[in-house]
Amino acid sequence: MKLRLLPSTIDGAGLVSERQHFACFVIDGCVAFDAGSLASSVNEEERDNIRDVVLTHAHLDHIAGLPLFIDDLFQTLTEPVRVHAERSVIDGLEDHIFNWTIYPRFSELKNRFGSVVEYCEFAQGKEFGVRHLSVRAAAVNHKVPTSGFIISDASATIAITGDTAEMDDFWNEVNSVEKLSGLFIECAMPSELHELASVSHHLTAEKLAHELTKFKRDETPVYVINIKPAYRETVVSQIDSLGVGRIEILEAGKIYEF
Ligand SMILES: [Zn+2]
Repeated sequence: MKLRLLPSTIDGAGLVSERQHFACFVIDGCVAFDAGSLASSVNEEERDNIRDVVLTHAHLDHIAGLPLFIDDLFQTLTEPVRVHAERSVIDGLEDHIFNWTIYPRFSELKNRFGSVVEYCEFAQGKEFGVRHLSVRAAAVNHKVPTSGFIISDASATIAITGDTAEMDDFWNEVNSVEKLSGLFIECAMPSELHELASVSHHLTAEKLAHELTKFKRDETPVYVINIKPAYRETVVSQIDSLGVGRIEILEAGKIYEF
């Protein structure tokens, strides 16, 4: 299984920055988990192959690229873009994004081949298939209903938290996986912003350290994702000083293989 965090930000020289404004993880070039930078950062092959988008939740940094991705492909889609999401996320997209005010309601439009978007509702705690992947959604703890995912192909299983604060259900699911090849966990804020993190349901470096005490897979590498760009340097240095050897910060653009 190959995973790539799409770059979302460029620096002053026009080069890819390590800062992550948006979340979009592409697996095996054909399934996107979240869609923050989906339209702007996929390569041509990924644009041709991705027809399944799985959403953790409906916050803007996770869905911003979805309307533009469908728009780019509108004339040429021979099958709809399948948006896999929980009911509340689907309703949120239809009410607040694809409402003709912010963007066209693509679910009411067709091209010459048929529908351009199809919603595939999933339930937390249940397994569902997406292309060659088997995906299980587990509740995490964010300001809005949000799903983490345990994702398997024939050879590997990985887990992604999405945005979250302290959680239990997700750890129960993850700890029951026999062999986990990678854990991708958020750490949005530095430890001194613990009150803001509590209100907005995110982790800080300190809270991340506490969460990892609940993770019972010592052999599994841990990759940190979704660090708020404004706090990146501080969060990275605080994570370094946790002294947990198996943690690294996920690099945008790099292909990770499991
Ligand atoms: Zn969020």
